[in-house]
Amino acid sequence: MTATGNGDAGGSTASLTNTHTGGSTASLTDAHTGGSTAWLADVGVDWSRDPAALAAVRADRSGWPPEGLPAAVVRPVDAAGVSRVLRRANETRTPVVPRGAGTGLSGGATAGAGAVVLDLSRMDRLVSLSPDDGTAVVEPGLITAALDAAAGEHGLTYAPDPASVAISTIGGNIATNAGGLRCAKYGVTRDSVLGLRVVLADGTEISTGTATFKGVAGYDLTRLFTGSEGTLGVIVQATLRLRPLPLGTATIAATFGDIETAAAACSALTRARVQPAIAELLDAATLRAIDPEHGDGALLLIQTDGAGAALEADLIVEALAGVAENIRMTTDPAEAAELLAARRLALPALERLGRPLIEDIAVPRSRLADAVREIAAIAERHGVPICTIAHAADGNLHPLIVVDRDAEDVPPHAQRAADEVFELALKLGGTLTGEHGVGTLKRAWLRRELGPAQHDLQQRIRQLFDPHGILNPGKAV
Ligand SMILES: Cc1cc2nc3c(=O)[nH]c(=O)nc-3n(C[C@H](O)[C@H](O)[C@H](O)COP(=O)(O)OP(=O)(O)OC[C@H]3O[C@@H](n4cnc5c(N)ncnc54)[C@H](O)[C@@H]3O)c2cc1C
Repeated sequence: MTATGNGDAGGSTASLTNTHTGGSTASLTDAHTGGSTAWLADVGVDWSRDPAALAAVRADRSGWPPEGLPAAVVRPVDAAGVSRVLRRANETRTPVVPRGAGTGLSGGATAGAGAVVLDLSRMDRLVSLSPDDGTAVVEPGLITAALDAAAGEHGLTYAPDPASVAISTIGGNIATNAGGLRCAKYGVTRDSVLGLRVVLADGTEISTGTATFKGVAGYDLTRLFTGSEGTLGVIVQATLRLRPLPLGTATIAATFGDIETAAAACSALTRARVQPAIAELLDAATLRAIDPEHGDGALLLIQTDGAGAALEADLIVEALAGVAENIRMTTDPAEAAELLAARRLALPALERLGRPLIEDIAVPRSRLADAVREIAAIAERHGVPICTIAHAADGNLHPLIVVDRDAEDVPPHAQRAADEVFELALKLGGTLTGEHGVGTLKRAWLRRELGPAQHDLQQRIRQLFDPHGILNPGKAV
């Protein structure tokens, strides 16, 4: 499979030509950096240096790819393969970028010149599912929606559902600690991760956590790896918690004159003491990107679930009456899916407008209306269009600054607006990333949020796990 198994590039390393660099791969020397990836031929894992294959794994969906092409992409099919790759990369000090589906929005999986991309998408097995234990064991490349569908056959669900649920992987979700629409009620990815198998930078494989819902032996490394953005180890297997499928749902679409009124209305939900599973807010600019005929109003999509779904939905309708311009409620799943489709379509629609700079701040729920008001002021001050989507029940806002598609770099006025959005998050007692991760895009701000002492401690933790700094260098901490 190795030396002769490179399907992308023709099958034999002797004849491989690295057309990107113009160099010959007979010696497998990486002309970008002068480093060597000759060891790839010996690790027994499928790999490629074909320029088209490299171009396909160099960027994520943040819209800001790095300089140059990576040196190679490797595609292991099992944990042993991951281990062999990391052992050799560690010995040769080769940077490795773990990659799931590349749907990340913070530049976490981007891979520039010299890096080897560790593509985990072929490790996509659902290893086991135990309805009685309410758990599933999966490989990292499994698409998240596929797990939820498999759980559904047993009357169960895998609750974390990023809007990218149909295109992102469990491994990527864990590595970013992804949030989702339903996390208002069921928590983020970490709340469904019980245990992990992880390959460390030197190739050692370890198990963390438990197969049980409870377990407090030792430090909680499962939580440390969750959200570590490929910097501490490579997740090769996960034991996940499943939950019962809710007995029913009720979905509400409420329109408001503007987003500030809609954001303020979210506080009415909290005061009504109901627990929506989903509460998504879309501003007029986002709705116009989806449907150019849309006017000025904002949309709040709410879903309640469980035995009391309709009852809770009635309480919500009551709480919103008089504030909302229009309220529609349905318990029909097909109609609900249609209403929620607007939310899942939002980002792809905005990507069609230009190159998005996607922010991801979270603020205390009670400050949501303050946040949207001040974001509008920032947009006005810097003359940049900012479209805002929010996971409203979590106070998690995505202000999207859309810049010209041909812009080589972030234009200065857009950067200033982005900086002010971060500033605003911290001022309101929030965080600069609620779910997308730090990646490359938010790195400059991390020390500010963590404070120097914690930032230094986190860097020392990273060094402990990866002394030679081969795992996803230049990202996150
Ligand atoms: C249309 C759209 C909607 C989205 N909606 C949401 C949303 O609602 N909520 C949300 O949180 N995100 C959302 N995202 C962002 C993205 O889908 C998530 O961050 C997702 O978790 C990334 O998964 P992935 O498989 O694509 O990972 P990648 O983008 O490939 O990687 C993400 C990070 O994880 C690391 N990584 C990947 N796999 C592993 C592994 N096995 N071991 C160690 N590290 C690994 C990478 O190095 C990188 O740092 C959305 C993206 C799109 C395009």
